[in-house]
Amino acid sequence: MEKGMNVAEIFGQDVFNDTAMQERLPKKVYKELKRTIEEGKELELDTADVIAHEMKEWAIEKGATHYTHWFQPLTGVTAEKHDSFISAPLESGKVLMTFSGKELIKGEPDASSFPSGGLRATFEARGYTAWDCTSPAFVRRDAAGATLCIPTAFCAYTGEALDQKTPLLRSMEAINEQAMRLIRLFGNTQSKRVRPSVGIEQEYFLIDAGKFRERKDLIYAGRTLFGAMPPKGQEMDDHYFGTIRQRVAGFMKDVNEELWKMGVTSKTQHNEVAPAQHELAPIFEVANVAVDHNHIIMQTLKRIAGRHGLKCLLHEKPFAGVNGSGKHDNWSLTTDDGRNLLEPGSTPHENIQFLLVLTCILKAVDEHADLLRESAANPGNDQRLGADEAPPAIISVFLGEQLEDVMEQLISTGEATHSLDKGKMHTGVRTLPDFAKDATDRNRTSPFAFTGNKFEFRMVGSRDSVAGANVVINTIVAEAFAEACDVLEQAEDFDLAVHDLIKEYATRHQRIVFSGNGYSQEWVEEAQRRGLSNLRCMVDAIPALTSEKTVAMFEKFGVFTRTELESRGEIKYENYAKAINIEAQVMINMASKQILPAVVGYTKVLADTVLAVREAGADHQVQAELLTEVSALLKQTKDALKVLREVSEEAAKEAKSEIRARYCYEKVVPAMERLRRPVDQLEMLVDKEVWPMPSYGDLMFEV
Ligand code: ADP
Ligand code: MG
Repeated sequence: MEKGMNVAEIFGQDVFNDTAMQERLPKKVYKELKRTIEEGKELELDTADVIAHEMKEWAIEKGATHYTHWFQPLTGVTAEKHDSFISAPLESGKVLMTFSGKELIKGEPDASSFPSGGLRATFEARGYTAWDCTSPAFVRRDAAGATLCIPTAFCAYTGEALDQKTPLLRSMEAINEQAMRLIRLFGNTQSKRVRPSVGIEQEYFLIDAGKFRERKDLIYAGRTLFGAMPPKGQEMDDHYFGTIRQRVAGFMKDVNEELWKMGVTSKTQHNEVAPAQHELAPIFEVANVAVDHNHIIMQTLKRIAGRHGLKCLLHEKPFAGVNGSGKHDNWSLTTDDGRNLLEPGSTPHENIQFLLVLTCILKAVDEHADLLRESAANPGNDQRLGADEAPPAIISVFLGEQLEDVMEQLISTGEATHSLDKGKMHTGVRTLPDFAKDATDRNRTSPFAFTGNKFEFRMVGSRDSVAGANVVINTIVAEAFAEACDVLEQAEDFDLAVHDLIKEYATRHQRIVFSGNGYSQEWVEEAQRRGLSNLRCMVDAIPALTSEKTVAMFEKFGVFTRTELESRGEIKYENYAKAINIEAQVMINMASKQILPAVVGYTKVLADTVLAVREAGADHQVQAELLTEVSALLKQTKDALKVLREVSEEAAKEAKSEIRARYCYEKVVPAMERLRRPVDQLEMLVDKEVWPMPSYGDLMFEV
């Protein structure tokens, strides 16, 4: 039998973590770096030189030949440019391996090819990457060998953020400052910092790589654009938490091993609801590291899949008709001495600080619901949000029975006097222990659910960086804390003031609380009555990014400038229009080059059959009917194809990205749907042997 893995031994072996730093760095340098990491003190260049040297020596021992500033531009994926450690050849003809402090802390990739939304004209293409020393450097191994990856932020020459990480770090500073004010008011004098803790559950699909290569839609768009439902979908619920197939199990084992080596705490793995769908969740950690690690997870899933002849699909909706994939962002606030501000304790009604934090969050989510919705907007997620599985596009908060009851007491009497007992769970089997129940039941349909001691934002798409959502959550909550502190710091009677504030927030923002079935049509109507918005598509969501309310908030907390927000809005419109255009082109290509020829060929076979059967003097009615049906659908396909061609040409003419995006949403997307319908019907009629690509059944059930 194969020897088991010693997880404790391999965990973090490829990370330049605290242990590696303590071992390698001179004491003084180590201390200085720690101060930078913990207190944000600027790093001296001589110190950086020493760190760079030691980091390089360490990486070379790990087999690294190159280093890269690993950053997160606004393309949605990470970017990197590799430099080897070699210096110019010496007189002897040999080279040295060098890496300076300057190279560690600053890089200068040519920024002109990254999206900037007009922030930076191409003639002013300077962009800088700056080391984020609060997220550890690591060595990654792939076909290119081993590479030292240095997590970095990416900014323009003028200081504007061109990436996801810079605003995330800024928002973490904002929430730290405001949360510190809040806990000081409640008499906490010990804690020095408050940081958002984030745990990201990642959903994905795994399919056979050979079949993937036979589908142009998967190759170019990451999702299927045609495809009839197989005889069996997810209706039996037999895949969810089902036994993991051996091929997939082998894949997961390798993924875990790689992740553990890179210091990613891969913890949970299971099959998801849809056939061929799975999930991986690491243990939560400080927000910026969690976001970096989520990128490592996505890359590792893709890379390891290749090794197993599999393809990992991170698209939000690879297959119509079965569940899509999301990313659940579990969020809480933790002090440096380990206190979670979202921990209600067993008697939440007495925990005044918790009630203030909670009602501030309700206020934040209610006031900025559109912005929160926007933070999860990407073209793929449009297929998911508001469909009948993922969270709806309407933002609401689930609190659970116990907290909802506390809220009701507060609102009706101004006083919460008791907390519902969560009680024990009795299984009725003597040999099984009775356990204390969680105070919150699970509600899988809520987009923003309180789950015990954290909130879980479930809207984010599976492919997206979760940085954007965390920037929004951190900042809207910072704003709510700031406003509460402004009042409370001035109050003559603190107890009375905090009591009034909690009641006021709870009352004013109770409309955002909802614990029913978020997938139901009744909720859509109820939400409308409550005045909550329902932004079903990305194009409708983007304006929230640049509303006056949003700009004022982000500028106040130094997270984004107006220009940065406008440029991001611009990039989002562009991305949307580009994504839809690619999908339309792929559909046109597949329909005209693969599907129409196959069906035309098939009608010939049918026509020949009709003739032959008639000649033989037998009843040919069935064959003739089939021919008529197929021919009619063929005509519909041809007509729909023509319309799609026309509207996508029209879209391309529009220079302004906002208008182009809207046109794509209103005209191109419906034209794509109209083309898909007859094609999917044809797939059910045409001989499987002549259908030019693997079916949904082949893709989802034969892994
Ligand atoms: P679920 O109930 O959704 O299955 P789990 O307890 O398995 O939740 O956790 C899901 C994710 O939430 C994991 O990444 C976990 O580490 C993370 N998580 C747990 N507690 C917290 C917390 N206090 N703050 C942030 N994330 C957390
Ligand atoms: Mg969860």
